[in-house]
Amino acid sequence: MAESTSNLLPLRYARSATARGHAAMARDLGVYPFEHPFSGPSGATFVENGTEVVNVGSNNYLGLTTHPLVVEASVDAIRRYGTSCSGSRLMNGTLDMHLELEAELASFLGKPACLVTTTGFSANLVALSALLGPNDLLVLDRASHASIYDGARLARVPMATFRNSDVGGLDRKLRQITKPTAALVAFEGVYSMEGATAAVADVIDTAHAHGAPVLIDEAHSFGVLGALGRGAAEAAGRLDDADIITLTFSKSLASCGGAILADTDVIEHLRIESRPYIFTASAPPSAVAAALAALRVLRNEPELPARVRAGAARLRRGAAEAGWKPLPGEAGVVAVPVGNQVSAALAWRAMLDAGAYCNVAIPPAVPPTGCLLRLSVAATHTDDDIDRVCEALATARKALQHDAVPV
Ligand code: PMP
Repeated sequence: MAESTSNLLPLRYARSATARGHAAMARDLGVYPFEHPFSGPSGATFVENGTEVVNVGSNNYLGLTTHPLVVEASVDAIRRYGTSCSGSRLMNGTLDMHLELEAELASFLGKPACLVTTTGFSANLVALSALLGPNDLLVLDRASHASIYDGARLARVPMATFRNSDVGGLDRKLRQITKPTAALVAFEGVYSMEGATAAVADVIDTAHAHGAPVLIDEAHSFGVLGALGRGAAEAAGRLDDADIITLTFSKSLASCGGAILADTDVIEHLRIESRPYIFTASAPPSAVAAALAALRVLRNEPELPARVRAGAARLRRGAAEAGWKPLPGEAGVVAVPVGNQVSAALAWRAMLDAGAYCNVAIPPAVPPTGCLLRLSVAATHTDDDIDRVCEALATARKALQHDAVPV
């Protein structure tokens, strides 16, 4: 009889045996907080087993995934262009709509040029892998998203990290550069797990004082921060100084895809040099049309970002009143420290039973005892929705204390 495939797989597979065992146990106990199957849209609420649940587990910050204009544009694009471009942007995969979206994003953000990519993850891969090399230096925020780290790995660029907006630490790292090295400083406008806003102005000033350009990933700040919802750089009054901005469409723009905004020469370089751009299929018509329509809704309804921020502030207050210590922040992500993975899984289940679906952040996204309940607020959540989430948080806290789990 042939040997089972699993015996032939490398060590890395064997090493995950414990984690796979924990996941299977959590599934059996009904407390596995990942890959929850949904059978409807990612709206402000959904119905599960006949009960309405408030959805604070989606990054649909502007609530546009079900907006009639966005849905209609997406469906219409499938009718006009079919379901896929079936090819790379470079070959047959550039539609007039990709270029239209690039032009509108560039004009909205006041940047000379834009490149639309297939995912937000690939926006960072496309930019970093082709801009940096082994003789350069990437100084990145330690809490940076996996796509920033992986972009750097593809570039084989040496990395130095600094702590969340510790500009003193950033300054020290940049001072250590002795030989003529091109350094780039990368960070997120809003940290994806903790929800804190970066000290954008200080980081830009420090980087620029050393001649280093900055890359700001505005995944969780676009559509949420700034007077027009253009992100953390706009909120800090430093949009003009943000040398490279990366975006994802999977959050405020109600779609799937990403974009890089920078000077024309930089974007033209990426178009012809970046392997993760050249060797992958382009974002499909339905996704590009949805992002374009969502961008137009944001431009026509500039009050939406403030609604997200107000809802998140209400949720932070309610979480604190329920006895939790939510992390400070101004954007749509509300992070609630919950202790270890067991507490996180139990709290997640208690929240769902009490009518609120949230996410949990566990290692490697956060340190082992720094697990978080991660809640994200949408412009379409009502005050009543938020209050119901606060009640669920109070119930979850009592449940953990009842089970004598430290929080
Ligand atoms: N950057 C950050 C900061 C993110 O949080 C994410 C995803 N959550 C990405 C990039 C990747 O975006 P996408 O999932 O749309 O590919």
